[in-house]
Amino acid sequence: MVKAVVGANWGDEGKGKITDMMAEKADIIVRFQGGANAGHTIVNCYGKFALHTLPSGVFYSHTTSVIGNGVALNIPVLFKEIQSIVDRNVPMPKILVSDRAQIVMPYHILLDQYEEERLGGKSFGSTKTGIAPFYSDKYAKIGFQVSELFDEETLEEKVKRVCEIKNVLMKHLYNKPELDPGELLDTLHDYKTMIEPYVCDVSSFLDQAIKDGKTILLEGQLGTLKDPDHGIYPMVTSSSTLAAYGAIGAGIPPYEIKEVITVCKAYSSAVGAGAFVSEIFGDEAEELRRRGGDGGEYGATTGRPRRMGWFDCVASKYGCRLQGTTDVAFTVLDVLGYLDEIPVCVGYEIDGEVTTEFPVTWKLEKATPVLKKLPGWKCDIRGIKNYEELPENCRKYIEFIEGQIGYPITMVSNGPGRQDIIYRESSLKK
Ligand code: GDP
Repeated sequence: MVKAVVGANWGDEGKGKITDMMAEKADIIVRFQGGANAGHTIVNCYGKFALHTLPSGVFYSHTTSVIGNGVALNIPVLFKEIQSIVDRNVPMPKILVSDRAQIVMPYHILLDQYEEERLGGKSFGSTKTGIAPFYSDKYAKIGFQVSELFDEETLEEKVKRVCEIKNVLMKHLYNKPELDPGELLDTLHDYKTMIEPYVCDVSSFLDQAIKDGKTILLEGQLGTLKDPDHGIYPMVTSSSTLAAYGAIGAGIPPYEIKEVITVCKAYSSAVGAGAFVSEIFGDEAEELRRRGGDGGEYGATTGRPRRMGWFDCVASKYGCRLQGTTDVAFTVLDVLGYLDEIPVCVGYEIDGEVTTEFPVTWKLEKATPVLKKLPGWKCDIRGIKNYEELPENCRKYIEFIEGQIGYPITMVSNGPGRQDIIYRESSLKK
């Protein structure tokens, strides 16, 4: 049984928490896209962790954590991350890395930085972790697969060839020092030593696991609105954030994904540039940012303050649809307990017309939010276990949003911990 845990919005919806929670009853957790450019924050019995590359199931001793072929694999970052959790008394996790995953090279990180410098104020707000140059090279067919580390002859030739191409950019576009192929080859030899114990034919492993009836979680990074095709292009990430891509990025048949758990946060936040219709500013934003998430809405990887906004029904309905949602996990609801009234974006006004359909980017840039104010519940809902025990206005907030987005909210998260979850029956659940 394969289930995907993905985001409906701009990321940071709380996928890490939901995956960590669901991993208790799973055997295998697979990262299928993205790289160390975003992070998941997880709070459990070992403490609070920010993971960037490792799947969120890594804290259980019964799970296998898999880095799928779709991931941008930064080998030193993966190693640091393994060490950092083991140093904090988490048992050494069982980790497998796909032999078809490609490697984030040191020059990808440099090129990312140089390009942001070159673009100055017009930058995309990249996290400068090399992800865009990495995926560009993958599709330009000059990327390095993990498997290629084990074919010395070809590796040497390819390193020389790729350095020639990169050095044109280094010298003429960026005016920076050129790459040394010998040095790069040495780095790749180190990478080989580091990664060798974990390398695996992941698609065969998962094929067998599916046949054996194992429970597999596919863990997405970011959310629908950052998808390169369906998101707010060009302010998107470089790999698909959709559950459908889980099949490709893990190497399994698409029809094996039986459940898609789409995580939606009870308000909005975004990092990086791009249209954000329900965005709020000033003191109102600062207060939500300070109270948000677990210890404030600041990037898990970058520490950057996140942009804040009210819940966006238009974006979330679209986000859930593109994911193929079977269940919505509605998170961080506890944070809204301080508000007298809670605005919710129920439509976009574009050129004098109101729509509830999420538009293409140039139209999105012109959209202003149509807000509806719902009454707040003015109390702390943490610790509540049963849906009926939630304050009436809180239930009304959930039910209103479910009606707007049209997908069943079957889980409500009222705290960052594994146990902070309320299961809910939904009439929309088929
Ligand atoms: P992800 O990238 O989707 O995994 O999201 P992040 O981990 O970056 O951000 C979610 C933040 O919200 C983290 O700090 C979580 O610990 C926290 N969080 C998740 N669920 C809840 C919740 O229900 N309530 C509160 N207060 N915090 C939560």
